[in-house]
Amino acid sequence: MIINISDLMKRSNVDSINIDFEDKIDIIEICGKIIKILEPIKVTGIITTDGEIANFIGEATLKFQTECDRCINDYVSTFIMKMEEKFTNDSYSDDETEYYQMNDNKIDFTPVINHNLHMSMPMKFLCSEDCKGIINRGEIDTNEFSPFAKLNKMFKNQGGR
Ligand SMILES: [Zn+2]
Repeated sequence: MIINISDLMKRSNVDSINIDFEDKIDIIEICGKIIKILEPIKVTGIITTDGEIANFIGEATLKFQTECDRCINDYVSTFIMKMEEKFTNDSYSDDETEYYQMNDNKIDFTPVINHNLHMSMPMKFLCSEDCKGIINRGEIDTNEFSPFAKLNKMFKNQGGR
């Protein structure tokens, strides 16, 4: 999603711009883990400027689906991510970690959202705080011939969690 903030940067009767848009990102991969984004990511916030640097403060809300790290079941969850980023038109900005590049007062939010997701998504994905994992699940499912019993055995033999 590209947002043009020329009015703000030229300071023509605006001192802030409200941001409210949806960006479609289908999938992200964090440390080899695939996370499906089920709905367009909703982004809200506000951009202000001192005339040189544009400052965005806001948040992104996403509904995602991924595999639980403990019980390997797919689950759906919502994640709200706070964001605060600075943007500059200056292509000679020597600190690329501090500023994102704007092109002619246009901000491309998609890489910003992607980068923030990689920085702030949890390192561990659990279907619930007290997920008992695959071992306990297998204990409940006592049928030797069920796929869960087989999986359970496999995990035990591997010294699984
Ligand atoms: Zn789980």
